[in-house]
Amino acid sequence: MSVSNLLANWSQFRQAHPTEGDFHKEYKWAMAIDLDACTGCNACSVACYAENNIPVVGKDRYARGHAMHWMRVERYWDEDNRDMPDQGAQFLPMMCQQCEAAPCETVCPAGATNHTPDGLNSQIYNRCVGSRYCSANCPFKVRYFNWWDFPKEENVFADPLPLQLNPDVTVRTKGVMEKCTFCVQRLTVAKHNARNEGRLVQEGEVQTACQQSCPTNAISFGNMVDPESRVGKQWKAQQVDLAADKQVKDAGDESHEVGEHHSGTQLRGYRIFEELRAYPSVMYLERVRESAV
Ligand code: SF4
Ligand code: SF4
Repeated sequence: MSVSNLLANWSQFRQAHPTEGDFHKEYKWAMAIDLDACTGCNACSVACYAENNIPVVGKDRYARGHAMHWMRVERYWDEDNRDMPDQGAQFLPMMCQQCEAAPCETVCPAGATNHTPDGLNSQIYNRCVGSRYCSANCPFKVRYFNWWDFPKEENVFADPLPLQLNPDVTVRTKGVMEKCTFCVQRLTVAKHNARNEGRLVQEGEVQTACQQSCPTNAISFGNMVDPESRVGKQWKAQQVDLAADKQVKDAGDESHEVGEHHSGTQLRGYRIFEELRAYPSVMYLERVRESAV
């Protein structure tokens, strides 16, 4: 296939994928993060470590590019050189955006990362051969590679720490790629419980660990197919369309439902790198505060 054919087909796939087929019949998991509410406290990141058995690799390994954090809080500083309290730090929680047309999926030679019917970008650890193509192709740089068998070779879970590992989550080994799963283990339990009762998962029944730990409720998570879901209402009110290449917003129709306690009169919703047409499932609400922390 020529490069032009490849690009044309790729483009067609990206246009068709988000809304067609058996996808999103019952569930489409999505998130909204209010940057105006985020204080950069890192509670989400810590909760993610604990929930998902993520090894703390230490600053030496970090300096060598072996970072391992599914949720990272990025910091950006105002350009002027004001002193610390007024410097204007801005925070951006960043994790896998669960792209609907994920660039990481199409390059995996082993089919270890692929899409689930409920709109997740899944990672199958025991299929991963460690090529790291997915990481190279992820525009958000949210995939992390196990350069070592951290539990065995680096003893990151020294006794008695294994007792606090989450039994619902695999402890990954050397040569395996990993990243945010939207806490799929929690979603799976909630879906099984709901199915046993002959219903769908209700709004508020399942939370991700980062959402649960956020002291300012900056993170919303839920099922966009459910008309009652807060996250679905937020996306709608912010006029952010999951399947759109580029959002077209009508400023005259601003909703007051979104961002309730923070500047709710503005359309602040956007998706990062939307122009790449990966169709992320995470919407951010723009920060509007004048000063930082
Ligand atoms: S954010 Fe990166 S790892 Fe996550 S689905 Fe998109 S391309 Fe894949
Ligand atoms: S959704 Fe779960 S896995 Fe993803 S960043 Fe939040 S806590 Fe971590």
